[in-house]
Amino acid sequence: MELDQNLIDAAIDQISRRWPNAEQAVAAAMYLEGGQILTSVSLDNFNAAANLCAETGAICQAYTMDRQVTASVCVSREAGSGKISVLAPCGICQERLALWGPTVQVAVPGPHTASGWSTRTLLQVNPYYWATQFTDDGHWPSTADHSW
Ligand SMILES: [Zn+2]
Repeated sequence: MELDQNLIDAAIDQISRRWPNAEQAVAAAMYLEGGQILTSVSLDNFNAAANLCAETGAICQAYTMDRQVTASVCVSREAGSGKISVLAPCGICQERLALWGPTVQVAVPGPHTASGWSTRTLLQVNPYYWATQFTDDGHWPSTADHSW
């Protein structure tokens, strides 16, 4: 399933369900192969070292279900303005999403687009993915390769 506005809206809806009145909040949404959507929210903790990115819950759920993630978005509601922004996946979430290969689509902020976001693949976001150095022929490691 291709990344689209419906997936962005699912993440925004997740923010509204979990934190209808919070000034600042972050949520993620992912398409699984076949079109199912998983959503999750960031886990905030007094000890910042225990915090988890919004994508983490959906990634763990997809992995638990042994399902392929095809697209991922992360959105933030900004304090003060309440403006919704698309966040590119952080480096750790890029690593987590790498389980499903270089063609996983992610939303990135796109200031030159009407929607305010655009789509990139993990390979476009991370063209020098380090783990390709550890495969026999330099290919992006498969889901099975990641499990050893
Ligand atoms: Zn992250």
